[in-house]
Amino acid sequence: MPGTQFDALVVGAGAGGLFTAARLAHAGYRTLVVERLDKVGGRASTTEIDGFRVNDGAIVIEVGGITEETFAEVGAQFDVRTPAVPVLYRVGNKNLDVTRGGWGMLLSTLTRQGAKLVSGIGAARKDDDALPGEELSTADWVGRYSRSAAVQGVFRNMCASVFAVGSEELPARVFLTYFTRKSAFKRFGFCPDGTIGVWESLAATVTARGGEIWLSSQVEALHVTDGRVTEATVTRDGETVGVTCDVAVSDVGPAATVGLVGAEHLPEDYREQVRIKDRPCSMLALNFASRERLVDVPGMLLFSVTERLCYVANFTDTCPEMAPPGWNLYVAASVPKPAVGDFDEAAEIALLRADLRAHIPGFDGARELSVAVMRDGWPPQRAVAGHDLPHTTPIPNLWNVGDGVKEYANGGTTACAETAKLVVEQILADARVPAEAK
Ligand SMILES: Cc1cc2nc3c(=O)[nH]c(=O)nc-3n(C[C@H](O)[C@H](O)[C@H](O)COP(=O)(O)OP(=O)(O)OC[C@H]3O[C@@H](n4cnc5c(N)ncnc54)[C@H](O)[C@@H]3O)c2cc1C
Repeated sequence: MPGTQFDALVVGAGAGGLFTAARLAHAGYRTLVVERLDKVGGRASTTEIDGFRVNDGAIVIEVGGITEETFAEVGAQFDVRTPAVPVLYRVGNKNLDVTRGGWGMLLSTLTRQGAKLVSGIGAARKDDDALPGEELSTADWVGRYSRSAAVQGVFRNMCASVFAVGSEELPARVFLTYFTRKSAFKRFGFCPDGTIGVWESLAATVTARGGEIWLSSQVEALHVTDGRVTEATVTRDGETVGVTCDVAVSDVGPAATVGLVGAEHLPEDYREQVRIKDRPCSMLALNFASRERLVDVPGMLLFSVTERLCYVANFTDTCPEMAPPGWNLYVAASVPKPAVGDFDEAAEIALLRADLRAHIPGFDGARELSVAVMRDGWPPQRAVAGHDLPHTTPIPNLWNVGDGVKEYANGGTTACAETAKLVVEQILADARVPAEAK
């Protein structure tokens, strides 16, 4: 049927799906993206509430790395504004700017053992042998240097902010690799339309190149013939449509991909890996607004000593259009204990509110716009960093992208951009192999 034959099918219009689709369309593939929701962006989208652009998940987009590079390569507009000072750390009742002094300044303010910790981080930067094994947690690694609650608190909140787990749940090797060898979100910004704006911009490049984005549509099944995905069953406008494709890329996470393909088409050892590594993290986000300025920082404020609160971000200093005139818009985030596994939602929300009352004077008079508990099938990270599945599958023309198949020690939308690049490079390399050699 005309209109239902595509070179590439991408299941899901989250960050991973759209980075992939934009690259494939740029490489000349006629690409279809199918998205269950009525908007793009998935867990990094935005919902309008009474004139406030409230982010559903991701709030900051990395600047200067693989994300911005992808936008430049595919010719998409990159409307991300960087705050005057990206991050401040709340130490005691001061907000510390570590832009110049870095780790040394932060840690020496928190503890007399600061220099030792800095040298531990420095050793990991230079020498692979100084990186601990996978079994040592970040909290235990920090504990070798310092017993200070403020130091442990700052490391916990960094792990929570970047990886959506506590420092007791994140391998120290991942933490150190990320902060000493990766781009590590050193530069980032907010999209004035809310984070959805960046995905709309990528989606526009797909349609401009003859691709299509079907919203409010769902892939029900991926069909395998002779060991390859050849067709998908899609529900669209209440109708069932068959879509044929040469290549299929799934952004719905490896476990859901297995469900779409049917377990019988995948070997048991792969299915077992998927079962073991299907360990989503959890995070709470509380969006609030006020007429008076409650948070005296232009970007993000990270905390050292809290029960749960890891950061508060101030959107409207940098992007006033995210709120109605005269209003300030903020989000506060926390990671529950445990972040992987079950927890008491009501108790965790209460702890986050209690932290906000303790650390943000005037919070009680603010307007709460929404509280989201992200977990299970809609998590902040589909896999704990360091425990990801590969993006390849046993089916040669089926790939996974997104934050369940991150490269080692990466996180969030940056990791989605990195995986999309690797997957598209491999798809293009495969296409160069003559059919008889496959
Ligand atoms: C509170 C919070 C704060 C965060 N902060 C940041 C941050 O500041 N910066 C950052 O980089 N990252 C951040 N993250 C992480 C980031 O949001 C995620 O890593 C990223 O959005 C994951 O994208 P994805 O493409 O892997 O998956 P998803 O966004 O889940 O995309 C998958 C899409 O597939 C769709 N779908 C599912 N099944 C089907 C089907 N059968 N057919 C069709 N469509 C289907 C879904 O509706 C969804 O839209 C945050 C996350 C949370 C929750």
